[in-house]
Amino acid sequence: MGEARYTNKGFGLKQVIGGQVVRDYASPLVDRLRAEGFVLVAGDLTFRLAQEFGFCYGVDRAIEYAYETREKFPDKNLFITGEIIHNPRVNARLVEMGIRFLDAEDGGTSCAQLSAQDVVLLPAFGVPVATMARLREAGCIVVDTTCGSVLNVWKNVERYAKEGFTALIHGKWDHEETRATSSRALLHPGGQYLIVRDMDEALVAAAYVERGGNAAAFCVRFENAIAPGFDPDVHLLRLGCANQTTMLSGESLAIAERMRQALSARFGPEEGAARFRAFDTICSATQERQDALHALIDGHTLDLLLVLGGYNSSNTTHLLEIGLAKGVPTYHISDAACLSSAEAIRHQPLGASAETISRGWLGEGPRVIGMTAGASTPNAELERVIRRVASLRGVEPA
Ligand code: SF4
Repeated sequence: MGEARYTNKGFGLKQVIGGQVVRDYASPLVDRLRAEGFVLVAGDLTFRLAQEFGFCYGVDRAIEYAYETREKFPDKNLFITGEIIHNPRVNARLVEMGIRFLDAEDGGTSCAQLSAQDVVLLPAFGVPVATMARLREAGCIVVDTTCGSVLNVWKNVERYAKEGFTALIHGKWDHEETRATSSRALLHPGGQYLIVRDMDEALVAAAYVERGGNAAAFCVRFENAIAPGFDPDVHLLRLGCANQTTMLSGESLAIAERMRQALSARFGPEEGAARFRAFDTICSATQERQDALHALIDGHTLDLLLVLGGYNSSNTTHLLEIGLAKGVPTYHISDAACLSSAEAIRHQPLGASAETISRGWLGEGPRVIGMTAGASTPNAELERVIRRVASLRGVEPA
């Protein structure tokens, strides 16, 4: 019997690879912190951790399948279509294991060069329909780690398209997940989508729904965020809202409500309601991390908050946004090396595309340091950060 060419279930090798995964990403210190009420004291520093943080179920599964795949096919070329998750250390570890990026900028293998002997991993974000078709054509073995919560968004977007609704997706058009999700809208004839990054962009779309406008200017404004052939005079009249799973949930809900109001203003409440659909597709892991951070900040006085995660990680950036909105001095760092000294911290401010260095982040005297980590951050990284902060003060975690 030949080898299966596609799996989204892994290879049942969890027992075999479990030790490796624990060695690479787990942290006894963070486990202890969790067991002891999410608080740890080191000298005059108190670390308070949000009660939900770090690896989510989708990331756990994607990493597990990547390790299982390496184990299952030790001698085959093993590729991944892009970052498996948005964490530089995790991606570097996969490269060390011989997993290569497809279409890498350094002239790596392209889909067209794949053979039936090759194995390709799909990341937790999923891939666009066209990429999937190219992989099928190549005949390679595909190991699909697309998260179930992402599949749930796809299901809704496809249903909208089938029923003649344009998918209005709250997300980032250049994010892998949103590119994959929006491609789903085109699976049905006449399917359309519009991607809005935030409320400001949603307001532009809402104003067009209510009062019309210059269609050409609208299409230029959303150049990268609409499907080919998008016509705002036609495709903004029946809307189904969805979102990238890792957006700020409050903003997603507000955007859906604003679009509902716009259709109601244009067509009257009854017809407006018939022209509107919404389905909250924020994943539970994202929601729980955001809720836990709210609870941490509301429940304690924090001198500062460290948000740990890749700079291109959408869910991590939203944790930064929450900290700042609540008035806590908050720093988004990618790893422990960002803590240059007790004086200087390298971090990426909200909305920036590069790091900056701030001074006086830790201050003097007793400090309560809030901490959280995005869904793609290993506990081992969190431990390195805690130990680094403690060492800058010359103390050890108790
Ligand atoms: S953040 Fe949510 S959607 Fe993304 S991988 Fe994790 S659980 Fe899945």
